[in-house]
This record gives sequence, C-alpha cells and structure tokens, in this order.
Amino acid sequence: MKKNLVVGAGFSGATIAHLIASKLDEKVIVVDKKNHIAGNCFDYKDKNGIMIHKYGSHIFHTNEEKVWSFIKQFGDFNQYMHKVIAIIDGIETTIPFNFNTLYDVFPNTLAEKLEKKLLEKFQYNTKVPILEFQKQDDEDLKFLANYVYEKVFLHYTTKQWGVTPNDVDGAVTARVPVYLSKDSRYFQDKYQGIPLQGYSALIEKMLSHPNITVKLQTDYKQLKNEYDRVFYTGAIDEYFDYKFGQLPYRSVNFKFEEYDREFYQSNSVVNYPCNYDFTRIHEYKHYLNDKSPKTVIAKEYSEFFELGKNERYYPIPKDENAMLYNKYKEEAKKLSNTYFLGRLGDYKYYDMDKAILRAIELFEENFND
Ligand code: FAD
Ligand code: UDP
Repeated sequence: MKKNLVVGAGFSGATIAHLIASKLDEKVIVVDKKNHIAGNCFDYKDKNGIMIHKYGSHIFHTNEEKVWSFIKQFGDFNQYMHKVIAIIDGIETTIPFNFNTLYDVFPNTLAEKLEKKLLEKFQYNTKVPILEFQKQDDEDLKFLANYVYEKVFLHYTTKQWGVTPNDVDGAVTARVPVYLSKDSRYFQDKYQGIPLQGYSALIEKMLSHPNITVKLQTDYKQLKNEYDRVFYTGAIDEYFDYKFGQLPYRSVNFKFEEYDREFYQSNSVVNYPCNYDFTRIHEYKHYLNDKSPKTVIAKEYSEFFELGKNERYYPIPKDENAMLYNKYKEEAKKLSNTYFLGRLGDYKYYDMDKAILRAIELFEENFND
C-alpha cells in the first residue's frame, strides 16, 4: 500500500488527506509544525465560552456547489451573513460602498443627486472595482470616486499592504468593489455561514479517518524521505530552501483584549479605513451568538513577513512575485509524486472555499479513475 504524506493540517491539507484516505483507501500521515490543526482557520472556545478565531475572523462563503456539498459532510453551519461596518468621518456605515453607504455619509440632497447619476451610468446591482470607478468624466461622479478612494481604500490599503491601492494588484481591492445596490452584505455568495462547532471541529472530523494519522509540532524538514507521495501545503520557497530568493508575504499581528461588558461594538468586524494604525477590530461572540457577560476583541495590525519573526498570512499579488513563484513552480514540476497546494504552496490569495476546491480538483485530476 502507498504511503502518503500531507504537510499542513489546514483546509488544503485536511481536504486532500480526507480524499486520499476515503476514496483511495490509502494511509496518510498529516504533519503540522503548529501545535494545533486547522492552520489559519484554527478556532477554540475560551474560558468565557466564546469561540475565538485565533488568526482573525473567518467567514465561510462560496458559490461552489462541489465545495459546499463536500464541507457539509463534516458539520452544520448557521446562516450568518457577514456585514462589515466601517467608521468613516465618525459615521458608522457598511462597506462595500453601496447606496446605503451613500445615504449614511452624505446629506440627503447630495446623496439623491449622486444616486440618480450613478443609476444613469451603471446598471443597478453591478459591482465596480474602485480603480475602474475612478475613471469618471462627470464632475459629481468624479467627486464621489475620489471620496470613496480616499475614505475607504487609500489608508486601509496602505496600512494593510504598505503601498497605495495603485501599487497593489487590482484584484486585491476588487474584492471589495463599489456595489450599485442596497445589499449591504460583504459577500453575495449562495452559501454563507459559520460552522456551529467551529472550524477546528470541522477539520478534526475531516481528519478522523482510520487511514489518517496526525502528528503535530512536526516540521517537514525533520522527516525522512520515505513516502510514495507528498502533498505540500507549506511555503513553496521554503521547500526549495529559497534557492531563487524569498517570496514576500504580509503578516498580521492580533492584539487581544477582554472586556467586562456584554458587547464592545455593534458588529463582528468594524473597519477603520481612516483612523488608527490597526485595520479592523474583530469581536468574536457575534458569529455564533455566544452568550457571556464578557467579550473578547482583537485589533488587527498588518506588517511585512520576516522569516523567524512572524508568520506568513497573505501572499502579495504582484507581477514580479508571480514571476518568482513561477520559477519555484517549474522546479516543482521536476519532482515526481510531490504536489504543491494551498495558500502557501500555490502562493495564491485563496479564500477557504478556493483552497478546498483546489485540493478537490488536484485529487480529481490525478487520482480519479
Ligand atoms: P493554512 O491554513 O495556512 O495551513 C497551512 C499549514 O501548513 C499551517 O498549519 C502550517 O503550520 C503548516 N506548515 C507550513 N509549513 C510546514 C512545514 N514545513 N512542516 C509542517 N507544517 C507546515 N477565507 C475565507 O474564506 N473567509 C474569511 O473570512 C477569511 N478570513 C481570513 C482572515 C485572515 C486574517 C487570513 C490571513 C486569512 C483569511 N481567510 C479567509 C483565508 C483562509 O485563512 C485560507 O484560505 C486558508 O487558511 C487556507 O488554508 P491552507 O490549508 O491552504 O493554509
Ligand atoms: N479594503 C480597503 N478598505 C476596506 C476594506 C478593504 O481598502 O475597508 C481593500 C484592502 O486593500 C484589502 C482588500 O480591499 O486588503 C481586500 O479586503 P478583504 O476584506 O477581502 O481582505 P481580507 O479579509 O482578505 O483581509
């Protein structure tokens, strides 16, 4: 029987491990250098009974039927639909910027005028990335575009990526487009929610198979090369000992605070696009409606990833980084029976559903009859 090694117990590793174990009926060893499973999606109940997302808020959302039917096998989800509040000029409003935001931040007469012009120019319910939205001829719409750029994107993006929106790949800010709609949800996906027992429990279930053995606090580098196949969800540049140089990442630092009151803020996530050094504040008890007289929040600060100092969180989408990644990808192709996947293995800004989809497709392409 073939021996499989999966490096990383996040969603990517757990998905491929589960498929190999259940569909091929082969043994799988899953190792992770952390002292817990679930990678960046790790959550745990604290002493107050509040489910904490250790590495920042995680909201599951997908339009992928394949992913949804796969993931539902391992636990139920609530029907939480995410909204993000942003504080703009001291006003609490929702983003993505939409018609509701328009009326929150401007006097009614100005909002009405802008709404009319927007509806003359764009079809209702369309999404326009900010870098596109800035291309306006009309003076009033130009004013609006500059306002949104400055108040929503400029400072937040500079805090998050260390550069202005013009210097990050357009796909990054396009994740939060201007939305010509009254739908104030952050995502419009068909399926959205939070797993009722948490992400760690969901992933534990994926890994609970008689063919799977999990070893924590185990680095791939410590292992002997005695496997028939390796599925590697760690950083691809690290795998190749940085022979072409390091792939850059952004890291994040979460400062946790506990308060002796029921709620700290009105919503799970509040963005601070204009003020302070943190980008956003997470308040976890909103996700599963956890009851406690106390509350726990985390302030999120972004910083560059530095080897040995902090963790990799965000690949940085940029042409020069893609070129460097491609060199590693070419090296990877020369290896037989070693597969790279996941946010770190593919150096791609995957949401959870896309990480799972990538693992399912890798399995289907290589191992389905
Ligand atoms: P990871 O979760 O990073 O897992 C990789 C694992 O490999 C890690 O556990 C690591 O310890 C292990 N590993 C690495 N190298 C080695 C080695 N040499 N030896 C052993 N183990 C190793 N997605 C959403 O869909 N919704 C959200 O709301 C959302 N919010 C996010 C918020 C933040 C702040 C961040 C950073 C991400 C967010 N994501 C969200 C994305 C989500 O976290 C990823 O899609 C998901 O974690 C990818 O899973 P993965 O298994 O590919 O990677
Ligand atoms: N963004 C912004 N202001 C906001 C929210 C998002 O400028 O209030 C930009 C920023 O560049 C951010 C990107 O849009 O990195 C994507 O936001 P998203 O919330 O999807 O990021 P993630 O949750 O992955 O950190």
